Amino acid sequence: GKTPERWNKNIAHNETVSGNIFYPFRKELEDVALEMIPYFVSVHVNNHTVLNYIDAAQSIGLPADPCPMCQAEYGLFVLDDYPDYAPTMVTSNEACDGSVATSVLQDWFLNRPLYAMPQPMRYDDPLVQEHCQKEIEGCWKFIEEQYGVKFDWDEYVKWAKSFNKLTEFEWEKWDVAANTKYYPINGVAQALYRIYYSQDGDRPIWHEMDEHVKRIMNKTVKNKIETFPKTRHRAIAWSCAPLYYSNWCTWAYNCWGINCVINMDSLMFDQYLRTDTYEHALEDLSWFNEKAPMRAMAVGGHEHILSLFDYMERFNCDMVIMYDQLQCKGMQGIHGVFEDEFRKRNIHAIWVPHALPDKRTVSRKEIRRIINDYMTTVMRETPLDPSLLDFDDDQSW
Ligand code: SF4
Repeated sequence: GKTPERWNKNIAHNETVSGNIFYPFRKELEDVALEMIPYFVSVHVNNHTVLNYIDAAQSIGLPADPCPMCQAEYGLFVLDDYPDYAPTMVTSNEACDGSVATSVLQDWFLNRPLYAMPQPMRYDDPLVQEHCQKEIEGCWKFIEEQYGVKFDWDEYVKWAKSFNKLTEFEWEKWDVAANTKYYPINGVAQALYRIYYSQDGDRPIWHEMDEHVKRIMNKTVKNKIETFPKTRHRAIAWSCAPLYYSNWCTWAYNCWGINCVINMDSLMFDQYLRTDTYEHALEDLSWFNEKAPMRAMAVGGHEHILSLFDYMERFNCDMVIMYDQLQCKGMQGIHGVFEDEFRKRNIHAIWVPHALPDKRTVSRKEIRRIINDYMTTVMRETPLDPSLLDFDDDQSW
């Protein structure tokens, strides 16, 4: 409130609403994902930061069994701990309907103009496409009315074209990861960078970063530098990941030679944005938003969830790290189907239980113990570095 000229030009939105919805207004307004910094980034850096938000949500009588991501997101409001930087808010029901509760509570706590932009769960049903596009157009109209600005097609085209360059480089990276031993990006960097830039939308910093990575990747491919020489297994990580232990894959590589080549979150938002006509742009933008994190491959229908097996083949993986988010109703509902498929296809899959940002339910140490057990009893392998089998990181910084 101290600098209202800036405050009046910001749009707050859920971190699961794609930043590229706001391209038509980027000349005059700034779109900033609300939960991204206080919740999503902070838990990766320091696992303790979100626990008080989860507890706060439950302290006002809300049930403890919904997804802890949604609990943490509305716990920010219970503690009045959200950054107050914008006069309006755009919300979404993504990733799943747990987020509907977040939107309802945000509406209540923020008490300011709010546009809810829900997406259908069975998003690829052709019958819902027109509805999704209307939701986006409704959002644009809401922004025009609230801020007195006009939809700017040229501005949209400029940013969308620039974002497509990031997508093209992502495809190039996937190609190198899938078909060579020279991919220079580790599993953590692959997952987190992809999540942040694809949700946030186009920014100059992503292009700068991609140029650095391109230089490194060109070098490793040209000189045939084997980047992960201790690899014994090429793994794909599937389903919703433990935010408090993104670096499990660094540990798994050093301890067991499990190289996590790709993960589900990296493969979302896989949508090129056409800019030749308004109709094509709206169609693609709508698809892009529907393929948001977790919606596309966790709760968007079993055919997407089971696309794991196609990706496994495409990325030449011989092992699955199957995240088992204990409070995710969508993924819990399909647990048995995966068990059957793994058996039928004779695939080595390690189930890794966790509770997204809440480290208290399954500790990091417990996750390592489960992987250790599988590697010794089922795979009958010995660790590359036995000193890494067990160590104390209960403080989990
Ligand atoms: S982890 Fe599951 S319950 Fe939580 S937001 Fe994602 S899809 Fe929804």
